[in-house]
Amino acid sequence: MASVNLISLCKRFDNNIPAVRDVDLEVRDGEFLVLVGSSGSGKSTTLKMIAGLEEVSEGEIHIGNRNVTYLEPKDRNIAMVFQNYALYPHMDVYSNMSFGLKVRKVHPNEIDRRVKEVSNILGIQELLRRKPKQLSGGQMQRVALGRAIIREPDLFLFDEPLSNLDAKLRVKMRFEIGRLHNDSKCTTIYVTHDQVEAMTLGDRIVIMKDGMINQVGTPLEVYDRPSNRFVASFIGSPEMNFVNGHVTRVDESLRFVSDDGYLIQDLGTDRLLRNADKGVVLGIRPEHIKLMPLNKGAGSVQVEVVEHMGFQTMIMGRAGKTEITALFDRNELLKFGDNIGIDIDPANVHLFDIESGVSLVGE
Ligand code: ADP
Ligand code: MG
Repeated sequence: MASVNLISLCKRFDNNIPAVRDVDLEVRDGEFLVLVGSSGSGKSTTLKMIAGLEEVSEGEIHIGNRNVTYLEPKDRNIAMVFQNYALYPHMDVYSNMSFGLKVRKVHPNEIDRRVKEVSNILGIQELLRRKPKQLSGGQMQRVALGRAIIREPDLFLFDEPLSNLDAKLRVKMRFEIGRLHNDSKCTTIYVTHDQVEAMTLGDRIVIMKDGMINQVGTPLEVYDRPSNRFVASFIGSPEMNFVNGHVTRVDESLRFVSDDGYLIQDLGTDRLLRNADKGVVLGIRPEHIKLMPLNKGAGSVQVEVVEHMGFQTMIMGRAGKTEITALFDRNELLKFGDNIGIDIDPANVHLFDIESGVSLVGE
């Protein structure tokens, strides 16, 4: 096991547009860290640099107390699992799992012991004599995992390992990866574009955009206190609502008024706002909007879509020109065309600078 330190890491490809810019990151010993961001944000490039599969343009990579920036991949003691399992098609499961150990000249008895142990952990002991083409997607992914675990590496790297699986299997494998980490406590860096995977697996998550880190924190820190509008919209599903408007001072208290006047929200007195007099964007998560009698709350919404999901009811509609999504407790009475009142607890309101998107809630 080992900690990982990325220092001012940069990657420029031939086209000179930086794919990774100035990434500074410390991954703690035993931590499960998730890199999350949309496609093209530089996650895989970062991971490949750590693995040694992509040259570093600038900066350093340390694993434990070793500077590995210029070491060959084989000398870094890392195991990596990819989206496309990359199993050897002509070898059976046993050989696929043991190949790396054989190359390292581990004794056959020890190889046999480890294959048995790992295949038991992953529930693939019945599959050892099968070839990859005789396996389902989930089984192949287990073998790929097994091949990584069996090496007992200092560091696990995962690049979207569940993307090729169907939704149900993805959830199951997600639990298994989480459980494996709890057992092994091996330092792990896991790349995904899926914010649910990031939130459920990560001790901490790193939100990337355009090759840069936007925020690092525990799942609940980034959910509760997104540092900018991008993070706020990326984390949480359904996505946070955003309403353009401005803040005025009313006596001792601050009040948000949307540009079209459809939403008026008191913000309380204890909020420190930087640049509050300029235009702002109010952010409110769907699950933080409450149903209210008309004219009693922050505004009204014309309901355009109602989705009954069992224990919750989701509505989409408009407050003036602004689209609003809200998640209520189960409500069988709501229907298309309703005009409903909504209310918002000031404690759940986020405010962002209208130009930069940076969170305005003071430290
Ligand atoms: P992600 O994994 O977050 O989807 P990548 O790290 O794969 O993103 O890519 C980041 C950026 O670098 C993208 O703009 C991508 O087009 C570019 N890129 C990735 N690999 C190469 C390459 N081998 N040559 C040129 N550009 C690349
Ligand atoms: Mg990628």
